[in-house]
Amino acid sequence: MAGLKYIRDIENLEGLSAEEKYELSKVSEQFQFRCNDYYMSLIDWDDPDDPIRRIIIPHASELDEFGELDASDEESNYVVPGCQHKYTSTALLLCNEVCAGYCRFCFRKRLFMDENDEVVNDVSRGIDYIRDNELITNVLLTGGDPLVMSTRKLEKIIRPLRKIDHVNIIRIGTKIPAFNPHRIINDPELPNMLTRYSTRHKRIYIMTHFNHPRELTDTACLALDLLMKAGTVICNQTPVLKGINGDPETLESLMRSLSDIGVNPYYFFQCRPTAGNIPYVLPLSEAFQIFEEAKRNVSGLAKRARLVMSHSLGKIELLGLTEHHMYLKFHRSRYDTDKGRFLIFHRDDNAYWLDDLVPVEESPHPVAKFGHKPAHAIGPE
Ligand code: SF4
Repeated sequence: MAGLKYIRDIENLEGLSAEEKYELSKVSEQFQFRCNDYYMSLIDWDDPDDPIRRIIIPHASELDEFGELDASDEESNYVVPGCQHKYTSTALLLCNEVCAGYCRFCFRKRLFMDENDEVVNDVSRGIDYIRDNELITNVLLTGGDPLVMSTRKLEKIIRPLRKIDHVNIIRIGTKIPAFNPHRIINDPELPNMLTRYSTRHKRIYIMTHFNHPRELTDTACLALDLLMKAGTVICNQTPVLKGINGDPETLESLMRSLSDIGVNPYYFFQCRPTAGNIPYVLPLSEAFQIFEEAKRNVSGLAKRARLVMSHSLGKIELLGLTEHHMYLKFHRSRYDTDKGRFLIFHRDDNAYWLDDLVPVEESPHPVAKFGHKPAHAIGPE
């Protein structure tokens, strides 16, 4: 991206003391660090707890023992290299293994590690798979960040997808509007290309990743405006993150600001128990209470989002919390038998993930056995 200056070495961060540089360099040896000058300019270096800093600058506790690199077992979703197929109607093409910065809590940080080969440069086998599978109506381009690619390369993926009759929605998952909105503003060919393929009957959706309202700068809003004028629909998804947006006021402000500018608040996620994520994860019950409190004073448009957990079994929505119980429901499921399943668990304020919860015996549909694969399961068998 022309004009953008990347910073990959902690030593080059002017806002850190020598001690911090030494300590955080050890973290970046384990989990890659990458930032750019635009995003760095949003950090308030006088505040050690600045939320933008927490998004992008390593934290010493990332090295604490916690979680797994692939907490939702995404590796089991590959049908051909670079293509995941977990839900019947939706396929993912992992078309790029780079982002304009690396979020510290990323659930795909394994992709940025040298030995990883889940992303392929040529996704044509994935496109062939999608063409041959008429049940796939939605395709998500993801990675990494597809908008880090040149518009020409991106079009090479979107053009053949648009020619497939049964593919209606093409989504692009991206944090570029937050990390580097100039990528969009300085490339008029990008909105032009999107206009060609986001048609009256089959739209392109841009799935943005704003974690904090301060990322919605004037420049970011201008970039979003260009994407909307190009005829795309914009939805936002973010985890609820300790020290970043994990308080009712910040989450409320994010919901409100997104809806004010015409971006749909789509998903709020339970932060995955990915290795390195301990400084950012909140217990399920706490995340739920923050989410509910944030929704109290906003309009219906601002609170369209659901709070979900992207588990290997599916997207599981957090619905309710009482003194003794937690109520959840499958929003998307890997297996037909789980579709719409309602789940009741004993309340556990130390639980971070579905697997930490104990089902209530008399629940009509407890998750009986994790990892059980019925014969009709789709995807890689
Ligand atoms: S933008 Fe998404 S894929 Fe990239 S580092 Fe952040 S969370 Fe990970």
